[in-house]
Formats: sequence, C-alpha cells, structure tokens
Amino acid sequence: MTHPFLDLAPLSATHFASIEDRVARLLSTEQDVVIMQGEALLPLEGAIRATAGPGTTALNVITGPYGQTFGDWLRDCGATVIDLAVPFHTAVTAAQIREAFAEHPSIDFVSLVHAEAATGNTNPVAKIGEVVREHGALFYLDAVASIGAEPVLPDAWGVDLCVIGAQKAMGGPAGVSAVSVSERAWARMAANPTAPRRSYLSLLDWKERWVDGGRKALLHAPAQLEMLALEACVERIEGEGLAAVMDRHASAAAATRAGAVALGGGLEPYVYAPSDAAPVATTLRVPVGVDASALVAKALAADPVLPLVAGGGALATSMIRVNHYGPDATQGVVHSSLAGLGAALAEFGVAVDLEGARRAVAGVWG
Ligand SMILES: *Cc1c(COP(=O)(O)O)cnc(C)c1O
Repeated sequence: MTHPFLDLAPLSATHFASIEDRVARLLSTEQDVVIMQGEALLPLEGAIRATAGPGTTALNVITGPYGQTFGDWLRDCGATVIDLAVPFHTAVTAAQIREAFAEHPSIDFVSLVHAEAATGNTNPVAKIGEVVREHGALFYLDAVASIGAEPVLPDAWGVDLCVIGAQKAMGGPAGVSAVSVSERAWARMAANPTAPRRSYLSLLDWKERWVDGGRKALLHAPAQLEMLALEACVERIEGEGLAAVMDRHASAAAATRAGAVALGGGLEPYVYAPSDAAPVATTLRVPVGVDASALVAKALAADPVLPLVAGGGALATSMIRVNHYGPDATQGVVHSSLAGLGAALAEFGVAVDLEGARRAVAGVWG
C-alpha cells in the first residue's frame, strides 16, 4: 500500500542545498545557512560547543528558561560565564549589555534569546547587536520563537550564530532546524580545539565536508520527511508574504493583550510593557486565588483545541500562555482563547466582561 509518509525517495544534495538557500532568503542573510537534522536544541548546543571553550568569557543573558540552559552548556565547555538575569516580566536593554562589557572587558561571547515563548518577552536585538559589534564579541542568538513572528535579521544586526526552528511561528515541523554562521564564527570554531569534530553535534563537519565542498555530497541521509515539510512551510510563508505572516502575529499579540485587559477579573499581561511583549505568545498573570493550571485545564476541558498552556516550573500556578502562533495567529483563535479563559474564570466565580474582550479583540484587527 502506498502512503504519503513512506517509501520516500532519498533527498538529493541539490534539493537539500536549495532548501538551505530558501531559509537563507527568509533570514535575509548572505551567511552560510546549515540545516541541522534535529530539533533546534541540536544547533543551539552545537553552536555553543563549537565556539566556546576554556578561553571564552561569555555574557549569558537570561530572560527565560533557555538562557539558563545556555549558561549550563557554556560552563560545561569550560567557559567563564557572566550571567545577566533580568526579571521575566521585562526585556534586557542595550544599556545593560554595555554596562556588562564595561565591568568585564574580557567578554568575547554573548548568548541571547530573541523571543521567549515560555515567558512571553522579546529582546531588542538590533540595538543590542550594535553594542556587541562595538565590543567585538561573538553574538549567538536563539531566534526559534521569533522567526516568522517578528523580523530576524542576522546580517543587519551583526549576529554570528542565528538559530531557528520551524515549529513556532513558521507552522512547520520540529524535527529540523537551521543556523546561519558568519565567517567570524567559522574562524572561531576552526581555532577551537574543543569544538566537536566527527560528531552529530559538529558544525565544523558541515563546514568542511558540505559547505567547503560546494554542497555536493551530504554527510548522511537527510531526514527527508522533515526536510520536505520545512520546504513546504517556507514556501507557504513566501506565498502569504513574510510581512503578512509577521503582521498576523503582531495583531494576535496586541489583541490578546487588549482582550485580556478588557476581560478583567484580575487577568493581567505578564510582561509589563507592550514593547517587551513577544508577538509569538502572550503570557498572562492569573487573579489572586485562581490556580493557572486548574484554569487552563477547565478551559481545555470545554474546548481542547485552544492554544493555552500553564506556565512551566515555578510559574505553573500563576502564569497562562496563549500560544497564538502559526495557524493560531488569527482573530478567531484569539477570540475563542479569551472566551474560553473568560468562561473558565466565571466558573471560578470571577466576574468577567466577555463582550468587552470581544470588542477589544475586534478593535485591534480593525
Ligand atoms: C520553543 C523554543 C525552543 C525549542 O525548544 P522546545 O523545547 O523543543 O520547544 C528553543 N528556544 C526558544 C526560545 C523557544 O521558544
């Protein structure tokens, strides 16, 4: 029996390279783009292990759980790590990065998460990039939760290692990811004796055996199902237009924020300033006396397809995430998410204004 997922022909090197070129266009980058055969944590970890070592002094910006993970990898590589943690309800500023450089002039690596789906904030990468470039440090960026939802411009911003995954705003598969690599970053890896070589984590293997060979021969059989899905999702974004896709996400974030405030009952945006709020997902603080996990469970019991989750770890009781990304970045989904939350709050005895929320959402979309 034939099946759309089975008996697939191997993906050719030419086809693989053409998908890389398409991803490079999505990032407006002239840098080498390497598609990695795994979830985004593969290039995120691979890029750190390739460029950091005992001689590295890293400024690790923590605006959510991923920053914590990057710090652990950096320390594991033997790097000296300076953690710059900012409260999850805000974003880091370029001035804070500048101060860190002044205090620790030896910093030669900066790791930053662009947008954090887990905490709902987004950081001003363009401004931070200027400061990082001035100082001359290598700039590593996790853009998994921003690509497709807001501009991601590694060349314009001076990002040396920009990691993306397709599973958030791109509406694509989670099993492949990509990283753009600057010439400076390749040179840092080549000079790093602790960089993984002959390893699944190795970016240098792809440089030496794929990029430098003119992208003629692949290192191993590519995951063709995921590669075809990645190609399809980039094609779909090109069809709708990247600007239009980003507009949908910006509207979904603004509408969720305005709708939650209008809903009332003590539901509040978790991220204080709208400019610090990520277009990919909106985090909300629940009213005192209401448990976020219980509230989400109640809303999902009534409508299981709503893109609602409770915060992770310590935030499980106090934070709700509305994951309005990909196909969920629409007025309809935002409206039903708030209606579902409102109905669940009402069951907890909290007074809410469902009609006010509906009007606020419609008002943002115009
Ligand atoms: C979603 C996300 C990733 C990918 O990690 P998962 O745990 O597989 O979802 C990486 N970085 C950021 C900032 C993300 O939001």
